[in-house]
Amino acid sequence: MSKTLYIGGEWISAEKKQTRRIINPFNQEEIATVCEGDRNDAVKAIAAARKAFDEGEWPVLSGLERGQFVLKIAELIRRDLNELAELESLDTGKTIEESKADMDDIANVFQYYAGLADKDGGEVISSPIPDSVSKIVREPIGVCGQITPWNYPLLQASWKIAPALAAGNTIVLKPSEITPLTTIKVFQLIEEAGIPKGAANLVLGPGASVGDELARNLDVDLVSFTGGIETGKKIMQAASGNVKKIALELGGKNPNIVFKDADLETAADQALNAVFFHAGQVCSAGSRLLVDEAIHDEFLAELIKRTKSIKLGNGFHEDTESGPLISAEHRAKVEKYVEIGIEEGAKLETGGKRPDDPALQNGFFYEPTIFSNCKSDMRIVQEEIFGPVLTVESFSSEEEVVRLANDTIYGLAGAVWSKDIEKCERVAAKLRMGTVWINDFHPYFAQAPWGGYKQSGFGRELGKIGLEEYTEIKHIYRNTKPAPVNWFQA
Ligand code: NAD
Repeated sequence: MSKTLYIGGEWISAEKKQTRRIINPFNQEEIATVCEGDRNDAVKAIAAARKAFDEGEWPVLSGLERGQFVLKIAELIRRDLNELAELESLDTGKTIEESKADMDDIANVFQYYAGLADKDGGEVISSPIPDSVSKIVREPIGVCGQITPWNYPLLQASWKIAPALAAGNTIVLKPSEITPLTTIKVFQLIEEAGIPKGAANLVLGPGASVGDELARNLDVDLVSFTGGIETGKKIMQAASGNVKKIALELGGKNPNIVFKDADLETAADQALNAVFFHAGQVCSAGSRLLVDEAIHDEFLAELIKRTKSIKLGNGFHEDTESGPLISAEHRAKVEKYVEIGIEEGAKLETGGKRPDDPALQNGFFYEPTIFSNCKSDMRIVQEEIFGPVLTVESFSSEEEVVRLANDTIYGLAGAVWSKDIEKCERVAAKLRMGTVWINDFHPYFAQAPWGGYKQSGFGRELGKIGLEEYTEIKHIYRNTKPAPVNWFQA
């Protein structure tokens, strides 16, 4: 892959000709070499996006026309779904089944925003001033810098690209430097869809240079970021120079609450899915299990039994249930947290080490891990580990579990399990989180907003609001009978 930056409608190399090797986390084999851009490349891409916004046709096309382009991207993603899913699994280690499901969701996101592109015709409001007409219209914000993480590389990118383009903005996107392959491919599809030059730009490279430039550059009007909380704080600071609009989708430490009157068979099955899906590298992972003390011991025993039989392996093999972690550094971070948990006095019930299987030694694998006897003030309960580690706490009342569940700086998602629906609704209403699932875990879709309370960030992606976030609101007031007011006498 020699030219992997897409700037002003051309595929080019990084100015300094630097490259990066992309590694398969399953076996550490090189799967591609891509360009490694730096700050200058970001500046170039921003200039292209600025020109395309200020002078180009994209922002002034009708919503219908923009929608047709965005729909075309959805169709091309569906056409190339298998190729995209294979790339995503090679790049992240996730199972091919997961990647295919991601690609379906991604195509749906583009289709959804294509459909919304021409739906908002503005609104005429009732003006209190006689002989006047007031209308409210939404307009694109301008140049949008978009920065995405490695855990759902293309999914997170689609939540930003599709609404931004549908609303008439021009974009510069920077994917995670370690997982750029599907994003490169989708920019090829964006080009194939015929989007005007400069409307969509791709720069690869490190966060500290390329990402920082997107946050800092005065020609960028909005920066939308998905990633870790500490990076989010840096982006807020860097973005302050021109008071650009900011959207932050940060981490989570998401409670999964199981009452004794839940369907325990389903709750146990889904508790595993909640935390161990994609090796726990999910912002909304149900990594904090809160179990009614009346069923704590039997529920925990069932989870341990099931966890021990989770099959780690090659994401391309049919019987693999979970792939590796993304990198050696990330596994080291997870291992550190497991040490911390043991020091803090939590009881390691299963996992807590790399697997012994010789076939997995070249990958960044880590066994699904459960800690019991956890307390709310432990670091393993409070901090986002972002790996296959479940902490288990018990509770004795509805009030107590609400307090425990909310006792976190995060507020991304949570779930509550019980057959008593009124109780579920009561608890859901009290959870300070952007998404609450009742008797389920993980569903999200293009039609429903996604985002966090508290330090999980601000702004929303997906849903109608996911498009509105990429618009400015303008009030146009027209006096239909202009006449002197004679405030100052002539
Ligand atoms: P990260 O913050 O390390 O990196 C995210 C992106 O930011 C990458 O593209 C990186 O290059 C870039 N970056 C790094 N430093 C930067 C800087 N100084 N300025 C600008 N950009 C910079 O996060 P990660 O490790 O890639 O992803 C994991 C995190 O993402 C977890 O905390 C997870 O919870 C979060 N996440 C949140 C959501 C959500 O919807 N809320 C979804 C997925 C992931």
